[in-house]
Amino acid sequence: VRYATKAILASAQRQEPAETFSSGPQFASTYIVRGDPHSSKYAYGRDANPTWSTLEAAITTLEGAQTLVFASGMAATAAVLHAAIARGSRAIIPAEGYFNVRRIAEDFAVRGIDLVQLPSNRIEGCDFSGVSAVWIETPSNPFLEITDIARVAERVHASGAILVVDNTAATCVGQDAIGLGADVVIASDSKSLCGHSDLILGHAATNSEQIFGALLAHRTLYGAIPGPFEAWLAQRSLATVELRVAKQSANALAIASALAADPRARAVRYPGLHSHERHDVAARQMRYFGPMLTFDLETAAAADAFLNGCKLIKVATSFGGVHTTAERRARWGSDSVSEGLIRLSAGCEDEADILEDVMQALDSAIR
Ligand SMILES: *Cc1c(COP(=O)(O)O)cnc(C)c1O
Repeated sequence: VRYATKAILASAQRQEPAETFSSGPQFASTYIVRGDPHSSKYAYGRDANPTWSTLEAAITTLEGAQTLVFASGMAATAAVLHAAIARGSRAIIPAEGYFNVRRIAEDFAVRGIDLVQLPSNRIEGCDFSGVSAVWIETPSNPFLEITDIARVAERVHASGAILVVDNTAATCVGQDAIGLGADVVIASDSKSLCGHSDLILGHAATNSEQIFGALLAHRTLYGAIPGPFEAWLAQRSLATVELRVAKQSANALAIASALAADPRARAVRYPGLHSHERHDVAARQMRYFGPMLTFDLETAAAADAFLNGCKLIKVATSFGGVHTTAERRARWGSDSVSEGLIRLSAGCEDEADILEDVMQALDSAIR
């Protein structure tokens, strides 16, 4: 062959496979398939990718349910809402859940799907007749509401509906939502599951063949697929997920306890604190209480002074990373939180270093 062909053939040359610990990302927009394209799982890059498959097999093991990965937590959310809720039917979503899920509800209303917002603490005892799906988020972001998954699951199933749990805050490591009765779990893996603040990804998991098929069809048609590189980074992150979640949870409890003992911080909220009104439920259903806690410094000025005073703790939104982060939540204008509320996500640093930073920042903000 001539030079241009030689270059193309050379660049596709493979070495014999070695037994590496990591399979690495596999990039493909298309695959070599002769004849009937349906004879192979891998024919076109939007339909399937071996790096997603590897990650999906891993998350399936951790979730205890068949998993599909999506481009983001919102992509997984949208897919579940589309796949699980029929036109003309009604579903319940939490009024203090993740704000973008509430925003999506407005969009669904336009198309004749009624997503009714109810406060988390009313969902458990609610009458589910005429409802096709119930969506809960526990712990909720950023209000840290706890919903009793097993109790809701029992009541939802008795009325013939399905239960969807947004398990982002706890992750499957911290809370076995499927085991507690969820029909579908969704999660933003941009948070604790991947945990390095370097990628956006989501997944949905279910043991219903019918819902799984609908989710797969939705992903293939609408194309909210992750890149193989993100999928591989996620795969790599999974090995340490329990180490990270355990350390974050221990650090979060230490910070929450220190703040609860300090009169300058008000309304300290963490599911692991006995003062949380649903600590008993959280303790029953969670293996780890997670990285997220909130406290109130009463004014925007005091909260901003605290954040400006932080040296180790970074001011950033989101949660679940290895670095401790914090922000004044009201700066987004999206949640009805007090102006001085700080949402903090505990990272994996040494506990004493973070506690020192929290206390010196408090000293610098409030004398
Ligand atoms: C972040 C988040 C989402 C959305 O996930 P993305 O990966 O940002 O699209 C959904 N639910 C909860 C509870 C979240 O915190």
